[in-house]
Amino acid sequence: MSSNGFATTISASDVVSDVYASDVLTMDQLRQRLSRPVWKSLHETIEKGKAIDSAIADTVALAMKTWATEQGATHFTHWFQPLTGLTAEKHESFVVPTSDGQAISQFSGRELIQGEPDASSFPSGGLRATFEARGYTAWDPTSPAFIMRHDNGATLCIPTAFASWTGEALDHKTPLLRSMEALNDAAMKALVLFGETHVGKVVSTVGAEQEYFLVDEAFARQRPDLLMTGRTLFGAKPPRGQELEDHYFGSIPNRILTFMTEVEHQLYSLGVPVRTRHNEVAPGQFEFAPIFEHANIAADHQQLVMQVLTNTAKRHGLVCLLHEKPFAGINGSGKHVNWSISTDHGMNLLEPGDTPIENMLFLFFCTAVIRAVDKHADLLRACVASASNDHRLGAQEAPPAIMSIFLGDELSDVFDRLVSGKEGSRKSAGLLGLGTAVLPPLPLHSGDRNRTSPFAFTGNKFEFRAVGSSQSVSFPITVLNTIVAESIAELTRAIETAVKKRTPFETALRDVLKATYSEHCRVVYNGDGYSDEWHKEAQERGLPMLRTSIESFEQLVSTKNVKLFSAFNVLSKRELEARQEVLFEQYFKSVNIEAETTEWIAQTMIIPAVASYLGTLKAASGMSQTIDSSIARVAASSDALGTALDELRTQNRELGGNEAHSKCKHMYKNVLPAMARVRRAGDELEQLCDHKLWPMPTYREMLFVK
Ligand code: ADP
Ligand code: MG
Repeated sequence: MSSNGFATTISASDVVSDVYASDVLTMDQLRQRLSRPVWKSLHETIEKGKAIDSAIADTVALAMKTWATEQGATHFTHWFQPLTGLTAEKHESFVVPTSDGQAISQFSGRELIQGEPDASSFPSGGLRATFEARGYTAWDPTSPAFIMRHDNGATLCIPTAFASWTGEALDHKTPLLRSMEALNDAAMKALVLFGETHVGKVVSTVGAEQEYFLVDEAFARQRPDLLMTGRTLFGAKPPRGQELEDHYFGSIPNRILTFMTEVEHQLYSLGVPVRTRHNEVAPGQFEFAPIFEHANIAADHQQLVMQVLTNTAKRHGLVCLLHEKPFAGINGSGKHVNWSISTDHGMNLLEPGDTPIENMLFLFFCTAVIRAVDKHADLLRACVASASNDHRLGAQEAPPAIMSIFLGDELSDVFDRLVSGKEGSRKSAGLLGLGTAVLPPLPLHSGDRNRTSPFAFTGNKFEFRAVGSSQSVSFPITVLNTIVAESIAELTRAIETAVKKRTPFETALRDVLKATYSEHCRVVYNGDGYSDEWHKEAQERGLPMLRTSIESFEQLVSTKNVKLFSAFNVLSKRELEARQEVLFEQYFKSVNIEAETTEWIAQTMIIPAVASYLGTLKAASGMSQTIDSSIARVAASSDALGTALDELRTQNRELGGNEAHSKCKHMYKNVLPAMARVRRAGDELEQLCDHKLWPMPTYREMLFVK
């Protein structure tokens, strides 16, 4: 078992083996430091999900502290994922002063298992009034503890869940863990049908590719928009953007490579198995992809990837932009969440394989995914929605806001044959009827790639591409696990019912898959997701199109979704409503900050620059027609800016009511368009003004980081 808790995922290469997971309290380390009975008890918790035995907590805590102090840690923290989408920590010292002027080192089992950070500063969506601000963090023994280093020391980070004192989830980890259980329960029952009784556990596996931009810190510091909002609120498109497409897989500049090497080194020591790196489509854009892991650990590691990228960039005089759309007119950033289902023996249930029996299993799970995506397209849309991702989804560059599945020609053909019955009912060697002759073994990573699909089958996993680059992957994974668990349970139930009525298993299985695929194949689309035809066709197929975040947040608490999350014990109605409230709040706040920053930049930076330039031009007025027409143009754009700015100012004074929901609507309907008008005028002025007077670095300067 490797440190990532997933047996078959990693074989660290020799080069990194010394560093790899050196800052992680791996299972091996723990085993060596614990007595056999204590280790056995802990192992039962980690592997089989047994409740943690509090009697062993002190012993485990001591082992953890000893290990951490050997690594130079002086503090520990419960590390958790509040609904901000970031991580939070509250550091406490191992060393406690005593009354006689001495100090003792202490870390008890109670401190390991439970913490009590002040919960009042984290969003709760109404689950916790400030007068009952108590919130608890609870140790997640299934994700290994690790050391975070800073220039003056190190801290032991203990992954934890975060809940209100009434036990309601205030974080992203709790529902994720619950959804892992839901998926495990459903898949284990299904596997029994297939005679796969030796499996101990089923988990979802995740590898999340992270796209990001790098800009020089010196430039970023002069851009209040980048510093305040993570994206540029002004900026004319440079003459050379990604048109030449020379950046994609192009050679990586030395400074960037140095940065990447350090990121890799740090992530290796944290046990994060990052693997590939290359330039992305847009200039200044790059990507890190890890090797997949157990979803809960992958989600923790994904937070670390974002943290390490951000912190390391600073040390290299760079700023890492995780925003979905830092530059208008230039490709945005996503986070492709590669997702599959696997047994504890490392058998990938979405691996088509080349033997029929595996194919049948595969077709069962694949059909479950197709059904899930069709039935719950609204949820998949909602779980990736945010003010920032709205700039990406629906634009002609990223997966569209319509959820569909790309299966590829070969797999579509397999399903078509299944439905038409053309695969024949002939049995080959007593197997399931889908013999190799009719069910071609799919080559791994079967040829075609379709970057326009929000949800694509890519050989032996699904790639959920609509996820935003700045987002926590936990909620998208939670949704995937839950909706697929529901479908697996439903298919299993249907097959069991038929079998009870004496239909042979093979026939029942095929009938159920056929019927399910026929009912839900409207969600399968292998064509160009950006095209207008698809928008039309999707409408004809009756697929939901939730263009904006607000529309999709509204769907989150529909009767269907409340029922789904409650039935699988992933989120109660109250928890779901709280999440919706937080999403509305975050949407409103982020647009509001952008709008005020836009107003501020226009008034205090752009107008003064334009005034200076107009002054210079006016001094030369009458000297040439070019000067005079420049004066006219600059004055016209400046007036356009003024008018738009007045409008924005008015809209910024409005709040849109008291409810988070109505505030969001105001942001969408009134504030965003007003911002766009200010920007348009501002960008025009950027292209008219004396470059030396322009108060901010331009795209042209920022985008080609070397
Ligand atoms: P690409 O998509 O660029 O061709 P790969 O297919 O090798 O590259 O993998 C892309 C991402 O998918 C990686 O992060 C990888 O770890 C992840 N991945 C591969 N197999 C699985 C799986 N079974 N479950 C989850 N993620 C996976
Ligand atoms: Mg990819």
